[in-house]
Amino acid sequence: MHSAPFKTFFNASLWGMILTMLLDTAHAALGAPPSLPTTTDDVAQHEISLVNHDGSILDQLNSTLGGIPSKWHNWHDTIVCKPGFLAFPSSIEEVIQLVKSHACVRVVGLGHSFNDLTCSDDLMMATLQLDRILGLDKSKMTVTTQAGVKTRNLIDWLARRGYALPTIPYYIDQSIGGAVATATHGSSIFWGSLSSLVTEIKIVLADGSVRTLTEADGDLFAAARCNVGVLGVVVELTFIIVPNKIVRRGLGYASDAHLLTELKKAEHDSLAFERVHYWYSPPLKLAAVTTVDNLSPVEQHEAKAMSSLGREASDWYYRLFADSPLEKPLQRVVLANYLKTPSAKEAATNIMLGHAMNILPGTYKLSDALPVQQVLETDILLSAFGRYDQYEYAVALDKAHDCVKSLFELFDRNVTNRDDFRVPFCLRFVGPNHEGLLGMSRGGSRFYLNMDNYDVYNRHGFSQSMQVIKDLMASDTCQARVHYGKASIYSPVSGAWTKRDAQYVKDTVGVDIFERFLSAAKTLDPSGKFADGVLVPK
Ligand SMILES: Cc1cc2nc3c(=O)[nH]c(=O)nc-3n(C[C@H](O)[C@H](O)[C@H](O)COP(=O)(O)OP(=O)(O)OC[C@H]3O[C@@H](n4cnc5c(N)ncnc54)[C@H](O)[C@@H]3O)c2cc1C
Repeated sequence: MHSAPFKTFFNASLWGMILTMLLDTAHAALGAPPSLPTTTDDVAQHEISLVNHDGSILDQLNSTLGGIPSKWHNWHDTIVCKPGFLAFPSSIEEVIQLVKSHACVRVVGLGHSFNDLTCSDDLMMATLQLDRILGLDKSKMTVTTQAGVKTRNLIDWLARRGYALPTIPYYIDQSIGGAVATATHGSSIFWGSLSSLVTEIKIVLADGSVRTLTEADGDLFAAARCNVGVLGVVVELTFIIVPNKIVRRGLGYASDAHLLTELKKAEHDSLAFERVHYWYSPPLKLAAVTTVDNLSPVEQHEAKAMSSLGREASDWYYRLFADSPLEKPLQRVVLANYLKTPSAKEAATNIMLGHAMNILPGTYKLSDALPVQQVLETDILLSAFGRYDQYEYAVALDKAHDCVKSLFELFDRNVTNRDDFRVPFCLRFVGPNHEGLLGMSRGGSRFYLNMDNYDVYNRHGFSQSMQVIKDLMASDTCQARVHYGKASIYSPVSGAWTKRDAQYVKDTVGVDIFERFLSAAKTLDPSGKFADGVLVPK
């Protein structure tokens, strides 16, 4: 797979194309400037979002432990609820005190999920002040961190010391505890998800006791690896780390036919897809392909890490839009392109070009080579497109080819509209090792299909195209499992996960496995203090 003859996607003409795109659209944009929607920075007083936390939200509340906000909302305001009390403990002792004094507790990391599984009428406990990285164990090759640390901060902290997490998600601005709770993943057949990297979990239980779970705890640990917040408050986690070696990032492209051929290969040689990401653009019928390969010892010796073209390149690109005097005109250009152009192909081309800045080929330290979304990219996408729902489905590798082939057929027969998906789908591979009871890859490697749906908020209110894809994912052809941090398979928009969603999870992870998870939950939380009422009945 890695030596497959991908043609080079990124070439010298890219800059010319970007420039042409900007100039082509400037006229239309400047003629009719659209008003910019609210960005994630705007946190109205007492309307609490945990995104871009700078401590100011704590000042709005009277107690250092928390207070009663008029409402809480998730990172881009698609989920809103009114907690009875919103707390921000900064020590395990405070967590214990809070847990003991409330009957029902839901934990919230940084609110970066596309569902309401964190909401509670009673206590909603935010972990963002549990933000200390506790240390490395070089002999065991592990790092221990508090649960509220941002994934990005952990990655950077490790990189400064010469280490890396062996696999990371594309999005790294959630809390590490929240990421593990939903088996957040990148693309790794060998390492699995972030949940698979965990070797120890320290958790505060309903009675205020503190327990450290490891592999020796059997199902209790397997349940905690992907706990969806229903077992207790995870306060500390220990992860496997690796040396932050230089690796090679490659970039190519694949047509529909090529992608299907590759998926067929993956059935028999899944490890060939280690760290492979596809970004498939439905309007363009084209996928950008990122590979990240180890170097031989000789290459390793000779290679130079291209630090200036790693994350910095895309950072620079996005800063053009955020920090410069050109900010407003450029944002208008982007808006005009994304929203106003009637041509989905044109918009999709521009998005793919912008995205290419994040995945430039070359030799990098592992922590820079694994593709990640920049903070500014998130802000630009939000200001350009507004809100969206994100769906993600995990399909067994032996079904992936037929599942994606059916998807392409639906597109080609116009049963679902390619042009409704201007932002590329992200396609990844995750292996089953140590995935935990509810892990989406439990039992065998899986192919993951991630889709952003903007239609629902920006155009039609209901997306028939998305509905068709959801139906396909739930069909016998795909039998997909769902990501616990993403939108419901049954609700038309993100928000409530229903009992039907819970039943779907049971059916797709297996009723026996789900019962083992419920039994672990009963052992750790006999009174159901942390039960969400959906996945785990109260
Ligand atoms: C733009 C965007 C891109 C994304 N990209 C990816 C991706 O590339 N790969 C991927 O797999 N996912 C991705 N996600 C999903 C995201 O990683 C998960 O939804 C993650 O759980 C969010 O973490 P959080 O800290 O915001 O947790 P929250 O959303 O606040 O909580 C998520 C769940 O974790 C529980 N929880 C949180 N902290 C704790 C704790 N300390 N103890 C016990 N339970 C806890 C909560 O109760 C809840 O059930 C993306 C999300 C967004 C918004």
